[in-house]
Amino acid sequence: MRAEILAIGTELLLGQIVDTNSAWIAEQLAASGIDCLFQTRVGDNVERIVEALETALGRCEAVVTCGGLGPTQDDVTREAIAAVMGVALRRDPALLAGIEAIFAARGREMAASNARQADLPDGATPIPQRRGTAPGLICPVGDKVVYALPGVPDELHEMLKRAVLPDLRRRAGEQAVILSRTLRTWGISESRLAELVEPRIEALDAAGPGAPTIAFLASGIEGIKLRITVKAAGSDDARAQLDEEEGRLRDLLGEAVFGVGDETMERAVGEALLRRGRTLALAESFTGGLIASRIVALPGASRWFRGALVAYATPVKHELLALSDGPVVSAEAAAAMAEGVRRLLRADVGLATTGVAGPDPQEGLPPGTAYAGVAVGAAPAEGLALRLSGSRERIRQIGSISALDALRRRLLAGA
Ligand code: ATP
Ligand code: MG
Repeated sequence: MRAEILAIGTELLLGQIVDTNSAWIAEQLAASGIDCLFQTRVGDNVERIVEALETALGRCEAVVTCGGLGPTQDDVTREAIAAVMGVALRRDPALLAGIEAIFAARGREMAASNARQADLPDGATPIPQRRGTAPGLICPVGDKVVYALPGVPDELHEMLKRAVLPDLRRRAGEQAVILSRTLRTWGISESRLAELVEPRIEALDAAGPGAPTIAFLASGIEGIKLRITVKAAGSDDARAQLDEEEGRLRDLLGEAVFGVGDETMERAVGEALLRRGRTLALAESFTGGLIASRIVALPGASRWFRGALVAYATPVKHELLALSDGPVVSAEAAAAMAEGVRRLLRADVGLATTGVAGPDPQEGLPPGTAYAGVAVGAAPAEGLALRLSGSRERIRQIGSISALDALRRRLLAGA
């Protein structure tokens, strides 16, 4: 069964609202094993909606539309669907009574225009409203179908789950479940990642249709993600397949995988510290509190995070962190800062950053020269070079995650 999504609303074309409905519908279709091959957006215009519907029905079995079911003159989804079905709109007395009752229950006068929401293309079945006023529509077009849902997200969510998905599954006659899981990586280039994962992707391709798929997703500064997608008869089977693929990828990639789904680097660090019953203190120079800010965004961080010192000026590094003389952007300085802040804030673990964020060189060092200091356990604190480049903002953001990653790897190594 192939379906398409058609989001209707001129605001979408003007960029005034973001089409989150299509993303949500797509996720639901995928989880129901229904392939979604196109998503289209169109304005509130009957001719263009008709054109979009006809195009969609020419290449798939079902179309889910959202928006344009309201009472105003620019809500013309009903008219467009009736035109595609080749039928007239007729006012449904039972629907009209229902809408009148909703207004009566809210103690509000019903505007005459609301009566339009009781109009049905001949042959369509209404999906009764439980939250707003406009009913949804199930509209057969030959042996195909158009589902029309309101644009308001919570009305749409409720109707899709209650009426559209069951109807689609029944028409599809199959019960496949499609599930995805995303693994997050850090500290490994996309080309190296591809090299390591390529043999598995080739083996899956060779296994033919229905086998799991693996895709790379670049995601701005938050690292490269690998998305595993599986299709199975039931959700237990789908989850077992995901577990299996995740295990294989972790074997290939090792410590480069720091999380799954929306798990962040700071969460991985927090969990590693909690498991070991340790607390963390930060001394941040070029990251200027960005690491602390990421950490305190996590609920429950107080269980393992002692605090942070933004040690920006050189005298502060000397006075509060007991840094000895010498270059402040160096592995030695980073290590000493980590040791110093761990003592100052009485934490078990110290993490420090020092570097040149740019755009100008500092002490003869080019922007991007940076170090993380890590003080864990009884071993001497370490200073590690971070390889950073790009704008000042990028260097500070990537530097923050890289410093956290340095600590994560140190903890995993058994420190
Ligand atoms: P109503 O029956 O409430 O008038 P409608 O079917 O006419 O709804 P629209 O007028 O198109 O729907 O949209 C109502 C509201 O729903 C919009 O103001 C917007 O906030 C939200 N909305 C509409 N389409 C989308 C979309 N594709 N993604 C996210 N939100 C949307
Ligand atoms: Mg509207």
